[in-house]
Amino acid sequence: MTSALDRAGWRDMMRLLSGHYRWLALAVALGVAATGAGLAQPLLVRHTVDATADGAFPFRPVGALVVLFLLQAVALGVARYAQARASEAMTLKLRQTLIDHVLRLRIAVYDRYRGGDLISRITTDPAAIRMLIAESVTNAASGTIGLAGLVAVMLWLDWTLFVVVAVLIGVAVPVLLAVVERIRLASADAQRADGELTADLERALSAIRSVRANRAEPAESGRIFRHASRICAARLRMARLDAGAGSVNDLALTGSYLIILLIGGARVAGGASTVGELVAFMLYLTYLTTPVGAIFQAVTAVQQGAGALQRVNEVLALPREPVTVRAAAAVPENRSPHLLELRDVWFGYEPARPLLRGLSLSLPERGHVSLIGPSGAGKSTVFSVIERFYEPDRGQVLFRGRDARDVPYDEYRGAIGLVEQQCTVLAGTVRENLTYSGAAADDDDLWWALAMTNLTDLVRRLPRGLDAEVGEHGRLLSGGERQRLAIARCLLGRPALVLLDEPTAHLDPVNEVALTRTIREVSRVCALLVISHRPATVRSADRVVLLRDGVVAAEGTPDEVARRQRERPVLHGEHRPSA
Ligand code: ADP
Repeated sequence: MTSALDRAGWRDMMRLLSGHYRWLALAVALGVAATGAGLAQPLLVRHTVDATADGAFPFRPVGALVVLFLLQAVALGVARYAQARASEAMTLKLRQTLIDHVLRLRIAVYDRYRGGDLISRITTDPAAIRMLIAESVTNAASGTIGLAGLVAVMLWLDWTLFVVVAVLIGVAVPVLLAVVERIRLASADAQRADGELTADLERALSAIRSVRANRAEPAESGRIFRHASRICAARLRMARLDAGAGSVNDLALTGSYLIILLIGGARVAGGASTVGELVAFMLYLTYLTTPVGAIFQAVTAVQQGAGALQRVNEVLALPREPVTVRAAAAVPENRSPHLLELRDVWFGYEPARPLLRGLSLSLPERGHVSLIGPSGAGKSTVFSVIERFYEPDRGQVLFRGRDARDVPYDEYRGAIGLVEQQCTVLAGTVRENLTYSGAAADDDDLWWALAMTNLTDLVRRLPRGLDAEVGEHGRLLSGGERQRLAIARCLLGRPALVLLDEPTAHLDPVNEVALTRTIREVSRVCALLVISHRPATVRSADRVVLLRDGVVAAEGTPDEVARRQRERPVLHGEHRPSA
């Protein structure tokens, strides 16, 4: 317990425990009471033995012993339960904090961390920390108090014998400390491997079709199994160290018994002490294993939990999206002819390599604007900047004339709906999917949104209508239907602007016509910005914006932009708004 990590471990642990002191205090108090009851027992045994030697039946010491045994058993039982209450409550609170935090991190953080690793920091690590609390706090408290009591009684009984015991146990201490440090290293290794296992497993399962299609099962299974093997090896290393430490501990104690028996026996024979005293001392020696073992267990539990605590602390230190807005929130609302405006926006995932280079773009209150450009031009990035997943490095995003940074995220995102290309339809019913955002909506609203997206007939045909299941990720629907269901969900929030990333996959003519109709309907009730890959969509737009080299290269009616493109074609992957 010398490294900075361990000190931080204790400190963080105390912070985790705040708010759960009542049950912990009860556990510690009862643990100490049970230890006290245990400590008194050998003294009563001494009376009993010495009284029996005098020929009388020792009713009172035996009665007292029975009561102490009972008290000890009840106190220990309740203490265990109180300890479980405290550690479960702590784990629940920790998980709640972590879940809340992990869902509110800045989007850039998710680019760096693997989902599975974050998952394991919410599932496995708090479980390891729960063990730490369950094993360490009461063990440390009752162990220390028990040890202090034992030392005091043994010194009082026979200090010379105690010095012999102290020397023998003292020899084992450095060995135990070295073991504890190595247990910490092994435990941290197991915890890391656990995170990697979850991350790789999540990766494989979330792309299981690609795994199959590429016949990558052996490679994936081998990789995941290697992490499992590393966990197993680390845990076995911990078990060996633990077992070794136990043996050293036992050896020191049994050595003490033998020597105490020899020295004490000689002293009883010489009349320097009674048999009762020797028996009591020997019993205390036996009891010594309990607090020493408890302290050792507490220390190893902290060492094992330190890695998990560190991983949890790492997550809690990751930056969250701020809830509050800038201090200048009182800026008066400026009536603007535009619903949304990007003004000279510079942005790069790495600021040194800007992708948007002074992009200016404005969207009116209504109408369909088509965003086109070569693949990799940054069209999706424009969506991310509009959604404020990333803040521009320079320039401004204005919403109804207000700097977007002055609008709370909740209000801002409530006004802007996003339908991604891999549109998220969730396992559940049509109704659950439509009401996902929590917007208050009755059946009339749902049917309105379905009518807007040309899904009315489809849902009417489903055996259970609005309550029909759509399957995992909406697999029971076609790609086009999923897309329109996602748009319907988005419309229920009555957004001022809908951002739609049109699917590149080939839509059949029926779905293509339906999507075009949906786009037309939606652009009548709000502003619609569509990343368009299909000539039909681009042709139906009120305005087309061509993105190239991080700026708007051309803007105008579909025909105007098509003309500009013919004058200056791009080499690869550009979608032209002409048939
Ligand atoms: P488009 O939608 O026009 O095809 P994107 O906006 O998706 O283009 O991507 C533009 C560039 O930014 C690409 O080179 C892509 O690799 C990169 N990029 C996209 N998202 C990220 C990200 N989260 N982190 C780092 N680079 C990214």
